[in-house]
Amino acid sequence: MSRSAKVNQVILVLIDDVRAEHLFNLMNKGKLPNISRITENGIMCSNCITSYPSITFPCYSNIITGTYSDYFLVQGSGIPQYHYVKRSDPPSIGKRFPKIVNCGEGSLLKLNKELGPNCKTIFEQAKDGNFFSALNIVSRGSLMVSAKPYTTERILKLVEDVFKEPKKFFENNEVPLITVAYTPYTDHLMHHKGFDHLDYTNEILKFEKGLGGIINTLKNTGYYDSTAIGIISDHGNYKAEKIFDLEPFFQQKGLITYTPRKGIGDFDCNFGSVGFFNFRGETWHHHPTIQQMQKFKPSVIGKQNLNLFDTLWEIPGVKYMYYRDNDNKPEKGVIQIEYKDKNIGRKIRGMIEYEGFGQEQKTRYTYDVNDFYGYSKDEESAKILDNRFHTIEEWLEATNRIDFPMIIDQIPRYFKNPRSCDIIVSTLGKFGFGYEHGKTVGNYPYLHDIALRESMIVPFIIGGSAEIPPMELKYCKTTDMVPTLLDLLGFKPHSSVVGKSILKYF
Ligand SMILES: [Zn+2]
Repeated sequence: MSRSAKVNQVILVLIDDVRAEHLFNLMNKGKLPNISRITENGIMCSNCITSYPSITFPCYSNIITGTYSDYFLVQGSGIPQYHYVKRSDPPSIGKRFPKIVNCGEGSLLKLNKELGPNCKTIFEQAKDGNFFSALNIVSRGSLMVSAKPYTTERILKLVEDVFKEPKKFFENNEVPLITVAYTPYTDHLMHHKGFDHLDYTNEILKFEKGLGGIINTLKNTGYYDSTAIGIISDHGNYKAEKIFDLEPFFQQKGLITYTPRKGIGDFDCNFGSVGFFNFRGETWHHHPTIQQMQKFKPSVIGKQNLNLFDTLWEIPGVKYMYYRDNDNKPEKGVIQIEYKDKNIGRKIRGMIEYEGFGQEQKTRYTYDVNDFYGYSKDEESAKILDNRFHTIEEWLEATNRIDFPMIIDQIPRYFKNPRSCDIIVSTLGKFGFGYEHGKTVGNYPYLHDIALRESMIVPFIIGGSAEIPPMELKYCKTTDMVPTLLDLLGFKPHSSVVGKSILKYF
C-alpha cells in the first residue's frame, strides 16, 4: 500500500436506472441491510447529479472515465447518446452507432471502441495490477468477463469468484486492484414494467443480496478491511404523462428517415421525451447550417421546403429546443435555446456561451425575457444568474437542489461532440414517443433522458474499509466517483478528468 493509499482494492458496482430517492427510501425502510452497512460507516450522497441527457451510454461512460461527452478528439468520453450518427469523424462517416441488445460478448465491447482516445477509464488511470470487469461495458484496460443471461445474481457472483480464485482469471493469484461490475436488468424492468412495479423493486433487492454475497466473500478471504466498495447508478427515471405515435407526423411532412447503408434520407431521430434530430447537411457527412435547416428540401417529390425549427415545434408537448450556432469551435461557441412559455403564450430565446474544455470549461447563460429553468425562484441558484461565465463546480453548487441541475454546463459539453445531433427538443416528460429511426418501437411511458431531478439524481455510496472517512455529502456529481476511488487507492486522476475526489473538496 502506498503511503497515501487508504485501501488496496476498489470495487465499483453500477446498478442501471435507480433514482437516489428510491434506493434511500428502501434503505430507510430497512430493506437494504447490506447497502446500509456500507453506507453507515462510509461516504454517502443522496443528491448526486448525473450527466445530461440522462441516458445510459453517455452517463455510464462518463462515470467510468470521470469526463463528459465533450470534443472527444481532444478530451472527453465522446459518447453523446444512445444511438448517434458518426458523420464527422472519418473513416466511419455516416455510420450509425447501434444499440447493444441480444448480442454476444463482441458487441458488448463495442462501446470501448467508441470511447474517446484521450480520456482514460478508471483502469487506465491506475498503475499496475489486475483489472476486472463483470459485464462492465466500458471495460477498456481490463479483463472483461460476463455470463449469459445477464442477471443481477450472476454478474455480482463473478465478483465473488474473482476474489475467491483470482488465478481462474489472471496469470498471477492477486485479487484485482480495480473491479467494475454492471447490473443492467433493473433498467429493462423499469422501461417495461415501471419504477413502481414490484418486479423492479425486487430486482434492487436481488442487487442488495448479491452485494451481501460480495461482502461475505471479502470478509472470508480477508480483503474486506482493505477494500472500498462504490455503488452508483447511471441515471434515474420518470413516467411520461402521455404516449404518442410520431410516425404519421414525419410521413405527412415528407421527411424520410436516413438509411446509413445507402446514404440517403432527410433525418435521423430517436425520441423518448427528449428528441435528438440529425438532418442532412450539404451531404450526410456534414452537419447542416441553421439556414439549411430553415429552408430544408424533403426527399419526397412535390413537398415544399420546410423550416425544420417550426416543424419540430409542431410536435406535441415540445417545451425546449437547443441547437448550435454555425461557426462554433470546439473551444468556443454558442448554443441557442428556445422555450415555449405557456403563460406568455410565445417563445422565449436564450443562449449558452462556452469557452474551453474539460475542467477548464466555463459557460454563461443569458435570456431575452425570463429565466426559463426556474433558477430565479431559488435563492441559491438565483445568485448565479449574473451574466458571467461559470465553471461546472459553480453551476453544481448553485443548482444541485432544483430541476435542471448543471444543465448550463452540460448542454455545451454535449454539442461540442462532433457526433452530437443538430437539434434537441424536450417535452420534459409530458409526452413519450418511443421513436427510433423512423419507427415507433415502444409504447412504454417509463423513461429516462430529461433534466428533471427524478431522472438526474442518483445514489453515490462508498464504503467497506474502516479507512474510508464517514461523510454525508449535500451534493456531488457522478464524475466524482472515479477520482475519489483513485484517491483512496493513492492515485492521481488523469488530466482529462472533470470530476473531483470528494475527499479533497469537501
Ligand atoms: Zn441506464
